[in-house]
Amino acid sequence: MSFLDNLKDIYRKVSEVESAIYNGKQDYLEIYERNLQLEKEIKERTKELNIANKRMLTLQHIWDMMNASRPLQSVLETIVNSIQGELGYLHCNIIKKCEDENGTYLSVIAQSNDESIKRVDNLIKTPIQTKKLVFDNESIYAKAAKEKKIMQTLAIGETLKGVAPDIPDEIIEEIIEHSESKSIITIPLYTRKSHFGWFNVFSSRKELTTGETDFLTIFAQQIEMAITIADLFEEVKAQAVTDALTGLYNRRYFEEYLKKEVRRANRQKQPFSVIGLDLDHLKEINDKFGHAYGDLAIRTVAKVLKKNARSIDTAARMGGEEFNVILPGVDSSGAMIAAERIRKALENENLETIGHITASVGVATFLEHSDNIEDILELTDQAMYQSKRNGRNQVTLAKPISETSWQEVAVNTFMDILSKHNIPLDEEVSNNIINKLENHNNDTSKEALYTVADMLTQTYNPLHHAGVMKSKVLLAVSLAKRFDLPKDEIDKLKIATLLYDIGNLMLPAEILQKKSPLTEEERNHIKEHPLIAAREILKPISYIQDIIPIIEHHHENWDGSGYPAKIAGEAIPMTSQIILIVDAYYALMEPRTYRAELTPKQAIEIIKQDAGKKWNQTLVQEFISLVDHDI
Ligand code: GH3
Ligand code: MG
Repeated sequence: MSFLDNLKDIYRKVSEVESAIYNGKQDYLEIYERNLQLEKEIKERTKELNIANKRMLTLQHIWDMMNASRPLQSVLETIVNSIQGELGYLHCNIIKKCEDENGTYLSVIAQSNDESIKRVDNLIKTPIQTKKLVFDNESIYAKAAKEKKIMQTLAIGETLKGVAPDIPDEIIEEIIEHSESKSIITIPLYTRKSHFGWFNVFSSRKELTTGETDFLTIFAQQIEMAITIADLFEEVKAQAVTDALTGLYNRRYFEEYLKKEVRRANRQKQPFSVIGLDLDHLKEINDKFGHAYGDLAIRTVAKVLKKNARSIDTAARMGGEEFNVILPGVDSSGAMIAAERIRKALENENLETIGHITASVGVATFLEHSDNIEDILELTDQAMYQSKRNGRNQVTLAKPISETSWQEVAVNTFMDILSKHNIPLDEEVSNNIINKLENHNNDTSKEALYTVADMLTQTYNPLHHAGVMKSKVLLAVSLAKRFDLPKDEIDKLKIATLLYDIGNLMLPAEILQKKSPLTEEERNHIKEHPLIAAREILKPISYIQDIIPIIEHHHENWDGSGYPAKIAGEAIPMTSQIILIVDAYYALMEPRTYRAELTPKQAIEIIKQDAGKKWNQTLVQEFISLVDHDI
């Protein structure tokens, strides 16, 4: 009988009583007794109604969360937490059925955050949620999934042992002994695609009533719906080709389209150009006027791009404040005109509250600057950064890779490092360096670079002598030539030699300036940190990505005893090996707290001792034959 019927029933009975009184057919005692009985019934029904109400609220809550697009994990956790503690449920979880190369396993993807699970995690010494659990074809889970129905087992210990056979029996016994759970109820979960996993409840009761079965089944359906919605959401997201904020194409579409354009250009022997655009000072706009106005600036760029692009041009928002346009069939001079038109149009926009905004633009042309698309994107980026460095709000045309000298790449890198990163550098030193880099002509750029590298080194190593950077680069290059390294490898080596210790700039001052001996932890910090920092500092600079591995491995030893990757022999890039030996040579000739500075001869002796260990024999021989002349 439904609640409504019950209520109707009650009302009917009440009116019967009323009419009985009215008709005077019953005596008062009888009426009194019937009233008592009715009151009791009403109380019971009210209690039931309250429980039903609570269930409805729980379901409503889940529905609200799913509408708010919360991440699946967090929705599922809220769901299991909302039922834990209700109706004598001590613990609830959702287990997913997973596959890997070894077959099927189970993984707890959400669980209620209660005392019982904390105790279990403590006893087994790892959070159960991080464990790969065993899927057994004979288990209650397999049976529930096969029969597609809710199941209950009183054999809690056995079930636990089945999924986690690595937990010792005595620990399982301890878990059971202190647990108030009397049964596990499991409900298989299905999504649109297939069987997903199970919703499990640890109950304080041995029985499972029909009402409870109905309730848990409805509850499981809510979980299934949450999972299905999350799946659909991911699918839709993956299929999206436009960016929500601007309506422009997104990066995914841009990359797909670019591939097609490259094929077409190669087939027809016709160029195409890429315009790269980055909004100037967006961070300032955000900070000054708020994120909504930052968004307005971004939308304005999109509007200008749409208005100024031909119908066959493709404009995309690559992410954040970065935009690209592909201009099919357009050479570099045409693209420069288009880019300039876009820059001007943007500059002429007058935005509410913000006023005028500008962008820095770079242009590169496929088949003109390079016939490799990765190079083209890199060159566009470099040209865009050149615009930033030259004062923003301008367009720069890329230079073909072959015409970009290593000095230019190095100068650009230093400029990028100083302008893009929060390097804890004295402002005066920083300005001084930027001045030196900006005011050089090509003849002196090499000298300016050495000076800048010396200055930067001196900020963390006061013992560093001016002029040493130049010596290091020259020595590294001579050594590389002995091994017939090609020109582009030698160019990379030059840049890497200037940059390999750049991560030291990020070392905390208290370690650098410490007079007393360093602790083990501090020594490790000094050892590992510069490599990590160098990678972090250099990672955002797109055009020097192939230099990062050289730097990353410049502490690997020939016998594999170095760091960080512990690679050995030929696996270590030759350029990294060269930097290691050059670095060691100059380091040995600097004084240390634990030893005086060594003479070149003494330094060579030390290097010889490690031949075959730190460095390869031939490298040491060539090295000695080179530096011996200096002694
Ligand atoms: P620069 O002229 O050197 O490019 O300076 P900038 O401040 O534009 O560049 P920077 O790379 O230092 O900072 C970019 C900022 O753009 C940081 C980030 O918070 C903001 N940003 C990225 N995406 C969005 C977005 O979708 N909306 C808003 N409002 N800001 C965004
Ligand atoms: Mg910007």
